[in-house]
Amino acid sequence: MTCLLTFITLSVLAYSKTTGNLLFHWQEELIHTGTRYFIAAGVVFFLFYVVLRKVMLPRKVQQAFPKMKDYRRDIFYSAISMCIFATIGVITFTILRPYTNMYDDIDKYGKVYYYFTFIWMFFLHDAYFYWTHRVMHHPKIFKHVHLIHHKSTNPSPWTAYAFHPLEAVMEALIVTVIAFTLPVHPTAVMIYMLFQIGYNVYGHLGFEIMPKNMNRHWLGKWFNTSVAHNMHHKYFVKNYGLWTTLWDRMMGTMHVKYDEMYEKTTNGSSETPVITPNPQELIPAEINCIGT
Ligand SMILES: [Zn+2]
Ligand SMILES: [Zn+2]
Repeated sequence: MTCLLTFITLSVLAYSKTTGNLLFHWQEELIHTGTRYFIAAGVVFFLFYVVLRKVMLPRKVQQAFPKMKDYRRDIFYSAISMCIFATIGVITFTILRPYTNMYDDIDKYGKVYYYFTFIWMFFLHDAYFYWTHRVMHHPKIFKHVHLIHHKSTNPSPWTAYAFHPLEAVMEALIVTVIAFTLPVHPTAVMIYMLFQIGYNVYGHLGFEIMPKNMNRHWLGKWFNTSVAHNMHHKYFVKNYGLWTTLWDRMMGTMHVKYDEMYEKTTNGSSETPVITPNPQELIPAEINCIGT
């Protein structure tokens, strides 16, 4: 009897310790992802939507600005997304860590390999996002998973993490995919996450800051721009890519008016204010599905 009680007590203590550790790691992950989001989106929002609002207006993709309720909705869903990111982060980097291909000693594979992993994560995530994004635009899935993100038909930096919880899980699972494929160092993942939020905020910026004619440059045309992603939010179809236009160009899903829109915006003559459609009214008629 004493033995049984001791076993139960020790098990409870061990469980509490594990739970405590997991909670600690979860908080840590949440602080990291939250800091990244609020600093990146907050600083950029303050700069472009407050300080440089008038100066940068000619470079606004859609001349209208989102309403306060749009910012509030985006921040609300982003906060939920960040809790989910922290959960997937703990599962991947703490619970499943021994089973992943992550390594701690940079010298194990050398510096060249370490730098190569950035290119690897970049293209892996680019492909992962494009195809999961296409799946989420399937008419039967869109309303239940991706509509929240598309409520922002005129996105702002706060839209970066504004996902339905199911979409947040899908987005977060890229770190699990990264951890289970080629070996990556934890610091490389951390640096990649900084890049990720930076480019994500740029994609939802609502202003185009890239140079004129980048869309026609032999190399520049392969990079995704704020105009391209803004058009995706506005029209609900085409321009599904993340970092590059590689998959959109290969699969024929670049918006036909992309070049025109990019040139108008970077020449400072973007369109006049538009009445943005209610996403609910666009379902299912204008929601593209896979293969179109
Ligand atoms: Zn979409
Ligand atoms: Zn978006």
